Amino acid sequence: MFCSKCGTNVPAGVAFCPNCGQATGGVTAAPAAPVYGGAPVYSAPTAVAQIAYAGFWLRFVAVLIDSLVIGFGAGIVGGCIGGITGGLMAARAQ
Ligand SMILES: [Zn+2]
Repeated sequence: MFCSKCGTNVPAGVAFCPNCGQATGGVTAAPAAPVYGGAPVYSAPTAVAQIAYAGFWLRFVAVLIDSLVIGFGAGIVGGCIGGITGGLMAARAQ
């Protein structure tokens, strides 16, 4: 295209005349829209799945610890209940 002010041959896609600075009014080289290629990469589920299965013996130890903790807690609760009931029964017996 040619500049409307000075007549200089302005390359297509240039917003202003390189000779006089007149706005060409033509199609400006708009910045290309950001192109996001494909779906966003999200690898967390895979990592979680890899962590979830920790092997047979680790799971065995975990189950053992869980049973110990649960048994310990149940023992404390049972001991408290037994002590309270035993104390009440002893108090009634008097
Ligand atoms: Zn010009």
